[in-house]
Amino acid sequence: MGKIPKSHPRYKSLITREKISKEFKNGIVHETGLIAHGRGEAFDYLIGEKTIPSSMRAAKVAAALFLLAKNPVISINGNVAALSAKECIELAKTIPAKIEVNLFHRTKARVEKIVAMLSKLGAIGIYGVKPDAVIPFIEHDRALCDKNGIYSADVVLVPLEDGDRCEALKKMGKTVITIDLNPLSRTAKTADVTIVDNITRAIPNIRKWVVNFKKNHVSEEELQNIVDSWDNKKNLKEVLSFISKRINSLF
Ligand code: ATP
Ligand code: MG
Repeated sequence: MGKIPKSHPRYKSLITREKISKEFKNGIVHETGLIAHGRGEAFDYLIGEKTIPSSMRAAKVAAALFLLAKNPVISINGNVAALSAKECIELAKTIPAKIEVNLFHRTKARVEKIVAMLSKLGAIGIYGVKPDAVIPFIEHDRALCDKNGIYSADVVLVPLEDGDRCEALKKMGKTVITIDLNPLSRTAKTADVTIVDNITRAIPNIRKWVVNFKKNHVSEEELQNIVDSWDNKKNLKEVLSFISKRINSLF
């Protein structure tokens, strides 16, 4: 990683790529995760590789939902672990929320590697190691989850998630928060709160709001007002409008 000079105009993006590539070699990231990352990068270019105002508002709503939740869970997959393991652990501790390793392309070996990585970074009580429940409406290993983790969660954050699984979680009656750079993905359209931003920026943003709410003793009523005034579809339209305006004003 030391090879990339900080002055390089695409420094952050290159460092992120190196992380994904390194964790692919380590068996943390699945090969399809490389493709998903590329798709994410393309959309990051479109929003200007920084948090746009509507995505900051989505992060605020996510923080409010987390603080109102009885049993919040953060789901971690290979790409999430590669890019934001430390930040997800910090967020989970701040809320507090549970962490579950939950993989689309599940293998015992990959789960164990991700759990080892998270443990090394200080995570305690990681769920998903021995899944003992299934998410209805989806098939095979993709449906496996932890009874005391995602299965019984009321609010679940599923960053960089597949559309089918997001839909199945919604059908279970859960409040679903996602982080997805593609505002057009099925996940983005299905979730209750879609943060269209890079996970590397979105997780610290959610945490900043959680800290801010706690510090200012924001009441449950106020948090509920923030949640109630949220319209995810409207926000996705705003993201698309931001992108089109931005593109039209570039040259
Ligand atoms: P869907 O199944 O929701 O229709 P998809 O099949 O196109 O979407 P998946 O591979 O299932 O995509 O999900 C990964 C999603 O994560 C993609 O929409 C991709 O744009 C997004 N993504 C990839 N890397 C990042 C990142 N670093 N930050 C935020 N989002 C990302
Ligand atoms: Mg998909």
